[in-house]
Amino acid sequence: MIKAVQHRLLGLFKIAKSFLIYDEEIAVAVDAGHSRWCAKRIVEALREVGLTPGDLKLCILTHRHWDHSGGVRALKEMTGCEVAIHEGDAEALGNVIDHRLRDGEVIPLLGGIRVIHVPGHTPGSICLLQGDSLIVGDALIGGRRGLKPPASIYCDDYEEALRSLERLKSLDFEAVYVSHGVDRVKGGKEALIELLNRLGSAS
Ligand SMILES: [Zn+2]
Repeated sequence: MIKAVQHRLLGLFKIAKSFLIYDEEIAVAVDAGHSRWCAKRIVEALREVGLTPGDLKLCILTHRHWDHSGGVRALKEMTGCEVAIHEGDAEALGNVIDHRLRDGEVIPLLGGIRVIHVPGHTPGSICLLQGDSLIVGDALIGGRRGLKPPASIYCDDYEEALRSLERLKSLDFEAVYVSHGVDRVKGGKEALIELLNRLGSAS
């Protein structure tokens, strides 16, 4: 099961979401929000699904940006979870990181969580595939009308970010969970193909 946790800046403005992937016994968090407040919110969300802080085994960061990683040290303190990020973004976060992830790796929790490297937004950006759900971080933005690439001003290498989206085409998934904007619980793959067609015809 997957639960979205919406974080807010100054208690008001919606910014990057976190997600809990969980079953009856354990949970994995994807992204930690920007602050200690976000970490607290994730701990509340664990309780909301009937788990305790100690049931959080791992926090996987989709990339190094502050709005996804700023709360991770606090989350680690509050829960004892380990922290993982792709090796391409690990350096920026220092000793809070326990595991450096690689493309194609399958994390052996909750039926397997597969790491897909999608560089461009940052060098170590990843998507995560669990069951038929794809959690994309900032590799895709959830617009009201459809999926969108991240804004070029927020990308280390925008062209590479667009090329990386092609990598997602070969995966089987139904749901797409985005850090920013509207998640697509159904029809996520179709929405990705539609975006790739739009990008292809624009170039
Ligand atoms: Zn970002």
